[in-house]
Amino acid sequence: DLSHNVILYLEDITVSFDGFRALNQLSLAIDAGELRCIIGPNGAGKTTMMDVITGKTRPDSGKAFFGQTIDLTRLTEPQIAHAGIGRKFQKPTIFEQHTAFENLELAMKADKRVRRTLFAQLFDDDRDRIAAVLTQIRLDREADRPAGLLSHGQKQWLEIGMLLMQEPKLLLLDEPVAGMTDDETERTAELFVSLAGKHSLVVVEHDMAFVEALGGKVTVLCEGSVLAEGDLAEVQEDPRVIEVYLGR
Ligand code: ADP
Repeated sequence: DLSHNVILYLEDITVSFDGFRALNQLSLAIDAGELRCIIGPNGAGKTTMMDVITGKTRPDSGKAFFGQTIDLTRLTEPQIAHAGIGRKFQKPTIFEQHTAFENLELAMKADKRVRRTLFAQLFDDDRDRIAAVLTQIRLDREADRPAGLLSHGQKQWLEIGMLLMQEPKLLLLDEPVAGMTDDETERTAELFVSLAGKHSLVVVEHDMAFVEALGGKVTVLCEGSVLAEGDLAEVQEDPRVIEVYLGR
């Protein structure tokens, strides 16, 4: 059932570590432009799933396709990034001594498709692109501040901005609002909602208020496979989901 609109398609993915199945015949389909949340108890396999999508972990069996034709199980991590999958980890990897603007500039120049050295002059349209992303991530007023002086939330947004400079089709975000204030969390939800449509987003998250604010479909992972899928309200009423969360 590879429908035309699917950007990410996993089928029967199994990953074992010393005989332990971190993923057990996991199947998942994400539509182009979708904003999907992945929830589930610790050890459910959320991180391992992200690792399979980005090529960090090779599945023992199963299919993983990006769009209709790109077989992720045959590509290296850099090839997958180049194909248009961007991943944001929890720990920011921004350059703290450089300004917010310079961080985005570096991200742009690091993009293989741009083919420009780090010392090359910026063109006007490069500046416009960086300015547009700074506005998108609400850092337009912080453009010239060293990234190290930004708040925790602003650093996270800057890192998302660095991903956006490479124009990924699919963004993978691992607990993006961990440690953020309520206000930052709300603004992050607004940012993600605004990115959906043009980008597809897969968000692993524990913060249910944030998941609710995102408003997309929710997939519940448990013991390496999909336990439930639907609106947050729907999955929260599912007796199997309640059991998994209350049983811990
Ligand atoms: P989650 O992100 O949902 O908390 P993980 O994907 O990190 O779950 O882990 C799923 C299971 O696989 C856990 O029981 C974890 O201990 C195990 N696991 C993950 N990575 C490894 C590894 N490299 N070696 C051994 N076991 C691992």
